[in-house]
Amino acid sequence: MKIIKLETSIPEHIMPGLMLLRIHTDEGVIGCGETYYVPEAAASLIHDWMHHYLLGKNPLNIEAHWRFLYERCTNFGSRGAELRAISAIDLALWDIFGKVSNLPIWQLLGGCVQESIPTYNSCGGPSYGTRTDTASGHVWPGHGPIGNSGPLNDYWSVIHEPVQLAQELLADGYTALKTWTLDFAAHKTNGPLYVSHHDVEKGLEPFQKIREALGDQIELIIDGHGFFQLPMAIRIAERLREYKILWAEDLLRIDSVDTLADFRRKAGIPLAVSEMLNGPDDYRLVLEKQAADYVMIDPTWVGGISQTRNLTRLAQFYNIPVVMHDCTGPFTLLAGVQVAATSNNVAWQESVRAHVHLLYPKLIDTEIVIERGRFPIPQSAGLGAAWQPELFQPDQKHYRVSTLKK
Ligand SMILES: [Mg+2]
Repeated sequence: MKIIKLETSIPEHIMPGLMLLRIHTDEGVIGCGETYYVPEAAASLIHDWMHHYLLGKNPLNIEAHWRFLYERCTNFGSRGAELRAISAIDLALWDIFGKVSNLPIWQLLGGCVQESIPTYNSCGGPSYGTRTDTASGHVWPGHGPIGNSGPLNDYWSVIHEPVQLAQELLADGYTALKTWTLDFAAHKTNGPLYVSHHDVEKGLEPFQKIREALGDQIELIIDGHGFFQLPMAIRIAERLREYKILWAEDLLRIDSVDTLADFRRKAGIPLAVSEMLNGPDDYRLVLEKQAADYVMIDPTWVGGISQTRNLTRLAQFYNIPVVMHDCTGPFTLLAGVQVAATSNNVAWQESVRAHVHLLYPKLIDTEIVIERGRFPIPQSAGLGAAWQPELFQPDQKHYRVSTLKK
């Protein structure tokens, strides 16, 4: 079996940060993958560079392809778009392996050790990660719009009706929620350097109201999106102690591991670090320097299923649990669930119910099911879904294809 075609597309009208990938084999098997952020760059790496290696290769030699592409990319850095392109390719190759074997990927990775995977609801809305609410048509990371009151707009609800939202989630079987209600303070001029006590109170008001009304019935998580410098991260952490949160994620930017470790010693609350890490050495350093209580992994940023499995095991050597990131596309979520099923060191799989119910159905042909706040172990072959075929029309603006020459 050999790879004969690589197709990419960008669903600008649905999730414009997403790059969709399909890898075709000469036996008619199609593997699906994706990555998120600057999708044009990831697509260029595949069509302008990586296709020279991939076309004609046996898709089942996944590790060989991963190492070849990664090692060539380390000649000039490897992180960023390069690793995102490799991630998309790796997902599609594992998907092909699963489809050829007629087995879910967790089976091929060594079998299932979980009965189901707990998820928490990240309180974004249906437009979080899209451009629909912005005048410029562009959204920077950590600057998603709050939107308006409406179905599943949990970003608006967690600010304006936090108790009702928490009650709704509890009724649906969720046991935890995540919010990023301090972002507004970071967006102010010099926000990362100074957050007034008033703004800390305002940002944490949803937690205050939920704890007052519902006690500790629901676990609370906050994401700082890496905005704050050390003194303000400590100020926020000190205020968070009384809410007995599950963890605080990326209150501090993650590009100095020593400062992260210093923060953890001072914070007095559990900390998660971070889907913003990329290279394997980033994770090793965070673990070695005891800078995290949880390690977060985005499967389509770190190098796909292959590297997510490796990093999950690495964290387990340190007895530090893993959380799988989402917010970044349906196959990222599906890949996280597959790896989570194979490890008893994955504590949570993130999900955004607005994306699962309103956005992802426009992208893939299979409904993603959450049952009482948990992902059932998937039973379909491969990743268990395919891109909607209409997203790969040759006349579309961002469609690109590389084909094996006969
Ligand atoms: Mg995060």
